[in-house]
Amino acid sequence: MINVDIAAIRSGRDPAGVRLVVVTKGHPVQIIRQAVEAGARYLGENYVEEAAPKIADLVGVAGVQWHMIGHIQSRKARAVCELFDWVHSLDSLKLAARLDRFTGEMGRKLPVLLEMNVSGEESKSGFPAWQADRWADLLPEISQILGCKNIDVRGLMTMAPFLPDPEGARPYFQRLRGLQSFFIKKFPASDWSELSMGMSADYEVAVQEGATIVRVGTAILGPRPSIQ
Ligand SMILES: *Cc1c(COP(=O)(O)O)cnc(C)c1O
Repeated sequence: MINVDIAAIRSGRDPAGVRLVVVTKGHPVQIIRQAVEAGARYLGENYVEEAAPKIADLVGVAGVQWHMIGHIQSRKARAVCELFDWVHSLDSLKLAARLDRFTGEMGRKLPVLLEMNVSGEESKSGFPAWQADRWADLLPEISQILGCKNIDVRGLMTMAPFLPDPEGARPYFQRLRGLQSFFIKKFPASDWSELSMGMSADYEVAVQEGATIVRVGTAILGPRPSIQ
């Protein structure tokens, strides 16, 4: 079992400051309904095609919010704007421009997190941010994203490398927090308050390092029945 509240209290933090996104990718809608009945409010999905029928199925269930956490292909940007309440995986200026345009057409605003690759692993999406001495290179692009009127940047997201010991993830979470401080200094008028980091294996370490959102699937719902 997982307990984000206990993890928060143990690290001297207010549990209300950590939101739990229950990652439902790979799980059928019946399981998602059970999770919602048990109190899940924020649901995370990685793939637009998989998420669309689930989101349609749960339309009208009060208080449910859908979070896009997977890499978004350009041609899926419009569907993302139509379906999701939040995007954690904004990883390029090009995608930001498309999300901005479509949300503008829909007359809505989209809260987003900027995904950062703080490990340097090639398999990971995100802005290249593994070398602190290169962070300044990101500033022109970030500045343009902050200028998009219909997307609301709220903070940063990352995925730590998968390591056998959750302690191994700590330096990556610390790096994301360091990057948050860097952006706060460079763009003090913007909102950098959210840090989406930590999954089943490492969410406790992430909470200790300042996560405000953890994204947990397997540890809540069990292994995913279908391979994506
Ligand atoms: C699948 C996924 C998760 C959840 O992973 P678990 O190990 O099942 O908790 C979290 N974040 C992202 C980006 C994912 O793709």
